[in-house]
Amino acid sequence: MGFSKWVNLLFIIFNCFLPIFSDSSSSTSNDNLPINKFLDLAKNPQVFDWMVDIRRKIHENPEMGYEEFETSELIRAKLDELGIPYKHPVAVTGVIGYIGTGLPPFVAIRADMDALLMEELVEWEHKSKVPGKMHACGHDAHVAMLLGAAKILKELEKDLPGTVVLVFQPAEEGGGGAKKIVDAGVLKNVSAIFGLHVNHDTSLGAVASRSGPLFAGSGFFEAIISGKGGHAAIPQHAIDPIVAASNVIVSLQHIVSREADPLDTQVVTVGNFQGGGAFNVIPDSVTIGGTFRAFSHESFMHLRNRIEQVITGQAAVHRCNATVNFLQEEKIFFPPTINDAGLHDYFRSVAGSLLGVDKVNDMQPVMGGEDFAFYQQALPGYIFLLGMRNPSAEPLHIVHSPYFKINEDALPYGAALHASLAARYLVEFRQEEVPVVEGKYHDEL
Ligand SMILES: [Zn+2]
Ligand SMILES: [Zn+2]
Repeated sequence: MGFSKWVNLLFIIFNCFLPIFSDSSSSTSNDNLPINKFLDLAKNPQVFDWMVDIRRKIHENPEMGYEEFETSELIRAKLDELGIPYKHPVAVTGVIGYIGTGLPPFVAIRADMDALLMEELVEWEHKSKVPGKMHACGHDAHVAMLLGAAKILKELEKDLPGTVVLVFQPAEEGGGGAKKIVDAGVLKNVSAIFGLHVNHDTSLGAVASRSGPLFAGSGFFEAIISGKGGHAAIPQHAIDPIVAASNVIVSLQHIVSREADPLDTQVVTVGNFQGGGAFNVIPDSVTIGGTFRAFSHESFMHLRNRIEQVITGQAAVHRCNATVNFLQEEKIFFPPTINDAGLHDYFRSVAGSLLGVDKVNDMQPVMGGEDFAFYQQALPGYIFLLGMRNPSAEPLHIVHSPYFKINEDALPYGAALHASLAARYLVEFRQEEVPVVEGKYHDEL
């Protein structure tokens, strides 16, 4: 960026932001906050093009959970460029940045960084350069938007009445990176955390979320059902694990349909069945695998226990043995994602001011899981969907599709929402915070 452009940008920022924070006595009033300027700033090419460039670089080089080494390095280079201090490594590849006073209140905004094991089928200039890996869940865009918010917030740092904590977390896709971030203790003094996820069928410029349960708690299981192999035409000398596994699968469906409250949404799905290799051989064993979902801890644990009982019990009925593994090492249980009710009202107010109240939609809960839930177990948290759908363009594919595409026009909305949610939180909630003990929180930086 040329010198004159910097002067221009600083002038805009000075004019936009100084009044927001300069008068602390009136800061709890929302009415004077010109938060629309955040969106204007995020749409400015100096921020927008910068985000697009970051997003495309990350998209070309997708990295799996806890292996986001180059993504993490890129994030740190951008934070260095902005003069933002950070902690690293946190949870292997995670980066925690700080903007503001270094003192309370602390408010966090989060982006996940990991990609998926799948081949990109979108033909475009910045297609994945790593065979078999793809950013098909939009986490490349999430990182770019959080950095965009950081760029905006850094410019008004001296006026922030507290500290914004930037959370770049690894391994959302099943690895529970959020849990490792929480366990690392870096969010100890944080009062609230906000996150977003891009969504293909919410309109560009709109958002969707709800108070309370938004995403389900999710777990995985794998079972090995062992019998005794033999000739397919002489079954009396074998113990058939195929028939046993088939009955197991049918019985698993009865847990939700016959045992669960129909008003308490739950899912048990068997998505994997491996057994046998020939038409005329009864195999020794069958392996099945699946997932289960629920919106409360009690229902979730009930499903977990009943899945184990049904598999071992039904296998025994058919003279087979069964072992059930809930894969806690590789795929930890995600708790339900439950949005804080107070933060829901706050979010509606901020997003409504920024986008227009008609652009802030309520949505039904969905059975997908999100490891943002781990933050919400530790502190009040709120996550929402960010719209990308442009009605005049071809429809976008859903996340985890090999044809998944980001509408990059959504990036400024995400950056502005992150920045607004964090900045306004500090202004509105600082007076409710505990008194500052001088020096006490400097270690946080
Ligand atoms: Zn995903
Ligand atoms: Zn995702």
